Amino acid sequence: MGEASGIRLDGVSKQFEARGQTTEALRSVSLDCAPGSFTALIGPSGCGKSTILRLALGLEAADSGEVAVGGLTPAAATRSGITGVAFQDAALLPWRSVEHNIALPLDVLGLKRVDFRDKIAELIALVGLKGFEHALPAELSGGMRQRVAIARALVTAPQVLFLDEPFGALDQILRRQMNIELQRIWMESRATTLLVTHGIDEAIFLADRVVVMASRPGRIVREIAIDLPRPRRPELFADPVFHRLEAEIAGALDGH
Ligand code: ADP
Repeated sequence: MGEASGIRLDGVSKQFEARGQTTEALRSVSLDCAPGSFTALIGPSGCGKSTILRLALGLEAADSGEVAVGGLTPAAATRSGITGVAFQDAALLPWRSVEHNIALPLDVLGLKRVDFRDKIAELIALVGLKGFEHALPAELSGGMRQRVAIARALVTAPQVLFLDEPFGALDQILRRQMNIELQRIWMESRATTLLVTHGIDEAIFLADRVVVMASRPGRIVREIAIDLPRPRRPELFADPVFHRLEAEIAGALDGH
């Protein structure tokens, strides 16, 4: 089931019961992310975006349907280290230095840090944090902390990358800078990437497909291909093609 490093949801439904209320977080969601593709998931609050990520990470189980990550069950994929994940609040351990935060997944997987010394140095350079190896999170700006989180997500050289609004807390200017960096990092790593975002501009800039969701029940309502050459440049934001795609996605979000 599923291809080597793809992500596949097949007819997935998931309900939550809370205080006597049933929420249909996902109803019959099917999503196929080809190996090496970049998919952006966009939709209103509560439409099930995080639930999709939690299912793909093996943190929740589907009520029905199937989820496969790199051809494995989500739990097996996470255990084998083929997945990397970064969340909105960088979620760094405050007492660990930059390099020791980046090494965290290695500790979790029982891998030796010394074997990854070069890899960690390379990642620190990749995300532009040379010289900050020994800094603590409190000594970094919000953008720098998010870069540490991205480096940490990449330390196991994952084939599949899950990004849950990684730049949601940053201001617009910084977010655009981070988008440019993320594009460069992705072009080097070519990990199959699923990005959850609220930013239409970010989705168009980064993804080769934007998947639009709606809520109650959580479901996919539209898939829009972003057929633009890479690397994409900030000038794209002023391009008529960008505005056309932006209007199409905004329309799908509004239910048109
Ligand atoms: P999104 O990430 O798009 O904001 P979520 O996946 O977090 O949406 O949530 C989808 C729906 O499921 C929401 O209505 C949310 O309140 C509900 N939900 C999510 N997790 C739980 C849970 N553990 N218990 C009860 N309801 C939940």
